[in-house]
Amino acid sequence: MGGLLGTGHRLIVLEPSVVFVPAIMSTAVAGRLYVVIGQALCVGDGHAIPSGAISSDWLHLGSIDGEPCFARGESPPDGTTAVPLRQLYGVISDEDFAIAARALGLLAWDRDHRHCGRCGAPTERSPVERLRACTRCSHTAYPRLSPAVIVLVERDGRVLLARNARTKSPFHSVLAGFVEVGESLEECIARELFEEAGIAVRDIRYFGSQPWPLSSSLMIGFTAQWAGGELVADPTEIFEADWFAPGELPVVPPRLSIARALIDDFVHRHGTPTHIRP
Ligand SMILES: [Zn+2]
Repeated sequence: MGGLLGTGHRLIVLEPSVVFVPAIMSTAVAGRLYVVIGQALCVGDGHAIPSGAISSDWLHLGSIDGEPCFARGESPPDGTTAVPLRQLYGVISDEDFAIAARALGLLAWDRDHRHCGRCGAPTERSPVERLRACTRCSHTAYPRLSPAVIVLVERDGRVLLARNARTKSPFHSVLAGFVEVGESLEECIARELFEEAGIAVRDIRYFGSQPWPLSSSLMIGFTAQWAGGELVADPTEIFEADWFAPGELPVVPPRLSIARALIDDFVHRHGTPTHIRP
Protein backbone atom coordinates (compact mmCIF):
# COMPACT_ATOMS: atom_id res chain seq x y z
CA MET A 1 0.00 0.00 0.00
CA GLY A 2 1.50 3.31 -1.05
CA GLY A 3 2.22 6.22 1.19
CA LEU A 4 2.76 9.91 0.70
CA LEU A 5 6.29 10.62 1.75
CA GLY A 6 8.53 13.65 1.74
CA THR A 7 12.07 12.87 0.62
CA GLY A 8 15.03 15.04 -0.22
CA HIS A 9 14.65 17.62 -2.94
CA ARG A 10 11.61 15.94 -4.44
CA LEU A 11 8.83 17.20 -2.27
CA ILE A 12 6.44 14.30 -2.62
CA VAL A 13 6.97 10.82 -4.00
CA LEU A 14 4.71 7.82 -3.93
CA GLU A 15 6.44 4.62 -2.94
CA PRO A 16 5.12 1.11 -2.42
CA SER A 17 5.36 -0.30 1.06
CA VAL A 18 7.78 -3.23 1.29
CA VAL A 19 7.09 -4.05 4.93
CA PHE A 20 3.55 -5.40 4.89
CA VAL A 21 2.93 -8.79 3.24
CA PRO A 22 -0.78 -9.47 2.61
CA ALA A 23 -2.13 -12.99 3.13
CA ILE A 24 -5.47 -14.79 3.54
CA MET A 25 -4.76 -17.55 6.03
CA SER A 26 -2.56 -17.95 9.07
CA THR A 27 -1.98 -20.71 11.60
CA ALA A 28 -1.01 -18.14 14.21
CA VAL A 29 -3.18 -17.98 17.34
CA ALA A 30 -2.17 -14.43 18.29
CA GLY A 31 -0.94 -11.27 16.64
CA ARG A 32 -1.46 -7.56 16.17
CA LEU A 33 -5.15 -6.71 16.51
CA TYR A 34 -6.71 -4.07 14.25
CA VAL A 35 -10.20 -3.69 15.70
CA VAL A 36 -12.30 -1.24 13.69
CA ILE A 37 -15.56 0.11 15.10
CA GLY A 38 -17.31 2.10 12.38
CA GLN A 39 -14.45 4.21 11.01
CA ALA A 40 -12.50 4.22 14.29
CA LEU A 41 -9.52 2.08 15.27
CA CYS A 42 -9.11 0.71 18.80
CA VAL A 43 -5.71 1.76 20.19
CA GLY A 44 -4.11 1.42 23.60
CA ASP A 45 -1.89 3.71 25.64
CA GLY A 46 0.28 5.91 23.45
CA HIS A 47 -1.89 4.96 20.46
CA ALA A 48 -0.29 1.50 20.42
CA ILE A 49 -1.83 -1.24 18.29
CA PRO A 50 -2.88 -3.96 20.77
CA SER A 51 -1.66 -7.56 20.52
CA GLY A 52 -3.39 -10.67 21.76
CA ALA A 53 -5.01 -14.03 21.07
CA ILE A 54 -7.50 -14.45 18.23
CA SER A 55 -10.41 -16.76 17.49
CA SER A 56 -11.64 -18.18 14.18
CA ASP A 57 -13.82 -15.19 13.33
CA TRP A 58 -10.88 -12.78 13.04
CA LEU A 59 -9.95 -11.78 9.49
CA HIS A 60 -6.29 -12.42 8.70
CA LEU A 61 -4.76 -9.47 6.86
CA GLY A 62 -1.13 -10.52 6.41
CA SER A 63 2.00 -9.80 8.36
CA ILE A 64 4.29 -6.90 9.11
CA ASP A 65 7.92 -7.72 9.82
CA GLY A 66 6.78 -11.34 10.22
CA GLU A 67 4.16 -10.53 12.84
CA PRO A 68 0.63 -11.67 11.86
CA CYS A 69 -2.08 -9.01 11.68
CA PHE A 70 -5.77 -9.70 12.31
CA ALA A 71 -8.92 -7.59 12.05
CA ARG A 72 -12.37 -7.63 13.56
CA GLY A 73 -15.25 -5.16 13.55
CA GLU A 74 -16.54 -5.46 17.10
CA SER A 75 -15.55 -5.90 20.76
CA PRO A 76 -12.72 -3.46 21.57
CA PRO A 77 -9.77 -5.21 23.25
CA ASP A 78 -9.38 -4.44 26.96
CA GLY A 79 -7.59 -1.19 27.64
CA THR A 80 -8.20 0.29 24.19
CA THR A 81 -10.13 3.31 22.97
CA ALA A 82 -11.78 3.75 19.56
CA VAL A 83 -10.24 6.76 17.78
CA PRO A 84 -11.42 7.92 14.32
CA LEU A 85 -8.88 6.57 11.86
CA ARG A 86 -8.43 9.93 10.11
CA GLN A 87 -7.26 11.42 13.42
CA LEU A 88 -4.54 8.79 13.65
CA TYR A 89 -2.78 9.80 10.43
CA GLY A 90 0.71 10.92 11.39
CA VAL A 91 0.10 9.69 14.94
CA ILE A 92 0.49 5.95 14.35
CA SER A 93 3.09 4.73 11.83
CA ASP A 94 2.28 4.96 8.11
CA GLU A 95 2.40 1.14 7.99
CA ASP A 96 -0.13 0.76 10.81
CA PHE A 97 -2.34 3.42 9.23
CA ALA A 98 -2.29 1.57 5.90
CA ILE A 99 -3.03 -1.78 7.57
CA ALA A 100 -5.88 -0.26 9.58
CA ALA A 101 -7.32 1.32 6.41
CA ARG A 102 -7.08 -2.07 4.71
CA ALA A 103 -8.80 -3.67 7.71
CA LEU A 104 -11.60 -1.12 7.53
CA GLY A 105 -12.23 -1.80 3.84
CA LEU A 106 -12.05 -5.59 4.14
CA LEU A 107 -14.27 -5.73 7.22
CA ALA A 108 -16.91 -3.63 5.44
CA TRP A 109 -16.82 -6.02 2.47
CA ASP A 110 -16.94 -9.08 4.76
CA ARG A 111 -19.91 -7.67 6.67
CA ASP A 112 -21.84 -6.62 3.56
CA HIS A 113 -21.51 -9.96 1.75
CA ARG A 114 -22.72 -12.42 4.36
CA HIS A 115 -25.56 -13.39 2.04
CA CYS A 116 -25.42 -14.21 -1.66
CA GLY A 117 -26.35 -11.32 -3.96
CA ARG A 118 -27.74 -13.82 -6.47
CA CYS A 119 -29.83 -16.28 -4.43
CA GLY A 120 -29.82 -14.89 -0.89
CA ALA A 121 -28.31 -17.96 0.84
CA PRO A 122 -25.54 -17.48 3.45
CA THR A 123 -21.96 -17.16 2.19
CA GLU A 124 -18.72 -18.28 3.81
CA ARG A 125 -15.12 -17.11 3.63
CA SER A 126 -12.83 -19.00 1.28
CA PRO A 127 -9.77 -20.49 3.00
CA VAL A 128 -7.56 -19.84 -0.03
CA GLU A 129 -8.73 -16.59 -1.63
CA ARG A 130 -10.03 -13.24 -0.46
CA LEU A 131 -13.63 -14.03 -1.40
CA ARG A 132 -16.93 -15.14 0.09
CA ALA A 133 -18.70 -18.02 -1.69
CA CYS A 134 -22.40 -18.87 -1.59
CA THR A 135 -23.15 -22.11 0.26
CA ARG A 136 -26.02 -22.89 -2.14
CA CYS A 137 -25.16 -21.69 -5.67
CA SER A 138 -21.37 -21.09 -5.36
CA HIS A 139 -21.68 -17.47 -6.57
CA THR A 140 -18.61 -15.59 -5.34
CA ALA A 141 -18.09 -12.07 -4.01
CA TYR A 142 -14.63 -10.51 -4.09
CA PRO A 143 -13.78 -7.21 -2.42
CA ARG A 144 -14.60 -4.54 -5.00
CA LEU A 145 -12.88 -1.24 -5.61
CA SER A 146 -14.32 1.83 -7.28
CA PRO A 147 -11.59 3.52 -9.34
CA ALA A 148 -11.67 7.30 -9.38
CA VAL A 149 -9.53 9.75 -11.32
CA ILE A 150 -8.15 12.87 -9.67
CA VAL A 151 -6.62 15.42 -12.00
CA LEU A 152 -4.52 18.54 -11.56
CA VAL A 153 -5.04 20.82 -14.58
CA GLU A 154 -2.62 23.64 -15.37
CA ARG A 155 -3.14 26.70 -17.57
CA ASP A 156 -0.29 29.18 -18.06
CA GLY A 157 1.34 28.27 -14.74
CA ARG A 158 -1.93 28.36 -12.81
CA VAL A 159 -3.78 25.44 -11.32
CA LEU A 160 -7.52 24.72 -11.42
CA LEU A 161 -8.86 24.33 -7.88
CA ALA A 162 -12.46 24.05 -6.78
CA ARG A 163 -14.63 23.58 -3.71
CA ASN A 164 -17.02 20.66 -3.73
CA ALA A 165 -20.68 21.74 -3.72
CA ARG A 166 -22.05 18.57 -2.11
CA THR A 167 -19.67 18.31 0.84
CA LYS A 168 -19.29 22.10 1.26
CA SER A 169 -15.62 21.33 1.71
CA PRO A 170 -13.56 24.02 3.44
CA PHE A 171 -10.74 23.20 1.00
CA HIS A 172 -10.11 24.08 -2.59
CA SER A 173 -8.90 20.94 -4.34
CA VAL A 174 -8.25 19.40 -7.73
CA LEU A 175 -11.16 17.79 -9.56
CA ALA A 176 -12.01 14.11 -9.18
CA GLY A 177 -14.67 11.67 -10.29
CA PHE A 178 -15.55 8.00 -10.33
CA VAL A 179 -14.89 5.94 -13.44
CA GLU A 180 -18.08 4.71 -15.10
CA VAL A 181 -18.66 1.22 -16.48
CA GLY A 182 -17.12 0.87 -19.95
CA GLU A 183 -14.98 4.00 -19.66
CA SER A 184 -11.18 4.33 -19.89
CA LEU A 185 -9.34 6.52 -17.38
CA GLU A 186 -8.61 9.02 -20.15
CA GLU A 187 -12.26 9.13 -21.20
CA CYS A 188 -13.27 9.61 -17.58
CA ILE A 189 -10.88 12.56 -17.22
CA ALA A 190 -12.23 14.20 -20.39
CA ARG A 191 -15.85 13.68 -19.32
CA GLU A 192 -15.39 14.87 -15.74
CA LEU A 193 -13.52 18.03 -16.68
CA PHE A 194 -15.99 18.93 -19.41
CA GLU A 195 -19.04 18.21 -17.24
CA GLU A 196 -17.79 19.91 -14.10
CA ALA A 197 -15.66 22.75 -15.50
CA GLY A 198 -16.45 23.07 -19.22
CA ILE A 199 -12.82 22.60 -20.27
CA ALA A 200 -10.81 20.23 -22.47
CA VAL A 201 -7.33 18.94 -21.57
CA ARG A 202 -4.26 17.45 -23.26
CA ASP A 203 -0.95 15.90 -22.14
CA ILE A 204 -2.55 13.64 -19.53
CA ARG A 205 0.24 12.12 -17.42
CA TYR A 206 0.09 9.57 -14.64
CA PHE A 207 1.14 10.97 -11.26
CA GLY A 208 0.48 8.27 -8.66
CA SER A 209 -2.28 6.49 -6.82
CA GLN A 210 -3.71 6.25 -3.36
CA PRO A 211 -5.94 3.54 -1.91
CA TRP A 212 -8.92 4.94 -0.07
CA PRO A 213 -10.47 1.95 1.70
CA LEU A 214 -12.79 4.17 3.75
CA SER A 215 -14.96 4.28 0.63
CA SER A 216 -13.59 1.18 -1.16
CA SER A 217 -12.04 3.38 -3.81
CA LEU A 218 -8.70 3.74 -5.51
CA MET A 219 -7.71 7.29 -6.39
CA ILE A 220 -5.66 7.42 -9.62
CA GLY A 221 -3.88 10.74 -9.95
CA PHE A 222 -2.95 12.58 -13.15
CA THR A 223 -1.67 15.92 -14.30
CA ALA A 224 -2.98 17.56 -17.48
CA GLN A 225 -2.69 20.79 -19.44
CA TRP A 226 -5.65 22.99 -20.33
CA ALA A 227 -6.46 22.67 -24.04
CA GLY A 228 -9.58 24.75 -24.53
CA GLY A 229 -12.85 26.04 -23.13
CA GLU A 230 -13.48 28.71 -20.53
CA LEU A 231 -14.12 27.72 -16.94
CA VAL A 232 -17.83 27.20 -16.29
CA ALA A 233 -18.40 25.37 -13.03
CA ASP A 234 -21.31 22.94 -12.73
CA PRO A 235 -23.20 24.29 -9.67
CA THR A 236 -24.42 20.81 -8.69
CA GLU A 237 -20.79 19.66 -8.33
CA ILE A 238 -18.73 22.79 -7.69
CA PHE A 239 -19.34 25.58 -5.21
CA GLU A 240 -16.56 27.81 -6.56
CA ALA A 241 -13.59 27.28 -8.88
CA ASP A 242 -10.74 29.30 -10.32
CA TRP A 243 -7.20 29.19 -11.69
CA PHE A 244 -4.62 29.90 -8.97
CA ALA A 245 -0.94 30.89 -9.19
CA PRO A 246 1.43 28.98 -6.85
CA GLY A 247 1.91 32.04 -4.64
CA GLU A 248 -1.77 32.71 -4.09
CA LEU A 249 -3.24 29.33 -3.26
CA PRO A 250 -6.44 29.12 -1.19
CA VAL A 251 -6.76 26.64 1.71
CA VAL A 252 -5.91 23.22 0.26
CA PRO A 253 -6.48 19.66 1.59
CA PRO A 254 -4.26 18.17 4.33
CA ARG A 255 -1.18 16.12 3.53
CA LEU A 256 -3.00 12.83 3.95
CA SER A 257 -4.43 13.12 0.46
CA ILE A 258 -3.13 12.53 -3.05
CA ALA A 259 -4.91 15.81 -3.89
CA ARG A 260 -2.44 17.60 -1.66
CA ALA A 261 0.47 15.66 -3.16
CA LEU A 262 -0.60 16.84 -6.62
CA ILE A 263 -0.87 20.45 -5.42
CA ASP A 264 2.48 20.30 -3.60
CA ASP A 265 4.08 18.90 -6.74
CA PHE A 266 2.60 21.78 -8.78
CA VAL A 267 3.97 24.34 -6.32
CA HIS A 268 7.34 22.60 -6.28
CA ARG A 269 7.52 22.82 -10.08
CA HIS A 270 6.28 26.41 -10.35
CA GLY A 271 6.90 28.17 -7.04
CA THR A 272 8.87 27.86 -3.87
CA PRO A 273 8.12 25.73 -0.80
CA THR A 274 7.29 28.87 1.19
CA HIS A 275 4.14 29.03 -0.89
CA ILE A 276 2.92 25.78 0.64
CA ARG A 277 0.72 26.17 3.66
CA PRO A 278 0.80 23.51 6.39
ZN1 LIG B 1 -26.17 -18.06 -4.03
